[in-house]
Amino acid sequence: MYVTPFFDVEDIHCPETDEAAKVIADIFWEESVRATFNVTGDKARILTERDREDVITSLTRHDIGFHSNTHSRHPTISEYLENSGWTDGVDKVIQEERPGIAAVRSVFGQEPSCFMRPGATFAAQAIHAGGKQGLPFVGSAVAHPRENVFWYTNTLHFTDVFGMSDQDYAATDRFEEQLFEFDDFLEDAIRKDRAWVGVFCGHPVTIRANEFGDVLNFAEGRMPPEEEWTRPTLKSAAAWDLAKENLRRLAVFLREKDGVTVEPIDRSRRRFDDRPSQVDRADILDAANRAADDGIVPVTDSLSPAETLLGFAEFVQSYARNGVVPDRVTRRSILGPTVEPPTAPGSDVVYWDGLVDAADQLLAASGAGSLPARVEAGDVDIGIGRIYVALAVAIEGIRNEAPPPNIDLPDEPRYPAIEQDLEETIPSWLTSWEIHHPNLDPTALVTHARLQTWTMAPADTG
Ligand SMILES: [Zn+2]
Repeated sequence: MYVTPFFDVEDIHCPETDEAAKVIADIFWEESVRATFNVTGDKARILTERDREDVITSLTRHDIGFHSNTHSRHPTISEYLENSGWTDGVDKVIQEERPGIAAVRSVFGQEPSCFMRPGATFAAQAIHAGGKQGLPFVGSAVAHPRENVFWYTNTLHFTDVFGMSDQDYAATDRFEEQLFEFDDFLEDAIRKDRAWVGVFCGHPVTIRANEFGDVLNFAEGRMPPEEEWTRPTLKSAAAWDLAKENLRRLAVFLREKDGVTVEPIDRSRRRFDDRPSQVDRADILDAANRAADDGIVPVTDSLSPAETLLGFAEFVQSYARNGVVPDRVTRRSILGPTVEPPTAPGSDVVYWDGLVDAADQLLAASGAGSLPARVEAGDVDIGIGRIYVALAVAIEGIRNEAPPPNIDLPDEPRYPAIEQDLEETIPSWLTSWEIHHPNLDPTALVTHARLQTWTMAPADTG
């Protein structure tokens, strides 16, 4: 099992934390443990302004991730995407975050290796925009039902990150308790045959200071001018020494832990980023069987629901045109719909010819980059979740003998079946971050998160 240690480096209120980041990076380096340090655009610029070449050099020995351009300064990512659609939202993220990626790249002289979520921010558009710029995403509110390394919005996703508590490094009894819990977490993940887990080792700022400047200044949407910022208070020299000692113990623990390989995310990401260009008929038949039996869009163990839907379409089209059942179908990378599928069921039956029409439209639309929310089958409009099930029933028919001439359409589904209730998870995730504006409306963020569950697929961890 691979284990990635992370630190987030983002403080803009307290110059002493520059030194703390350097000291922590040096401790891990001395103990031969390379970690991923996620740096904000703000922090990269500040380190240059303050001529902290020494800090930059120490961090550069490790792997550098991206931690957003301005982190907790308002509007945060979720705040500026509150009312966005899909395409405009993705464009906005690229525009807002690009200067941060550029700053991190130029200050550290390397491409950032991942996009670590700032606070409990969430937006599917941000994850996709990061992926478009080559950044896998770490620490998402969205979970795959079985795998903790998976694809979402066609971006590689890493979840399952154990969190060490910053303040506990300076209290050895609490630190040891955490270390035991972390060890249990690792043992449990090894038993579950996980390919990867992360450990969030902390923020240099709140290991060094008693408070987090972002919370002091930017909580609940507040945005005071710089001259009114409150600076966090620093720990005593003795407490800081103790914290350093315990950080070293964590590094040694990681280095010596049996059954794991500790490495930064720039290594791990390469192990899991392969995707098949084609899929075997058996996978398509399996998915069709589950969908036809249960009337759902399943999240399968190979392709995403969106890719499976296009696989179904290719299967049906090939059979309709040539009478041939294909041995394999092409995997077409595609996003979920950008708008919601219809709520009214419309027609409750679809005929074979209409279904073949629908398959043609789906394949034609695949070049557009995102699934349509609905297709025309004969003279009726049908949401893609229902078309998915209808195609599955037709494929089941073909497997057994021949496609049925007409298929009864279920009223549902509108979305893939994931266990997670995103309407609950995402709002509570967003409100768990005290920085967010209390009136942040999660509705559109939830909608896009659900639409993109069509893109959920396990990473190849074999
Ligand atoms: Zn952060």
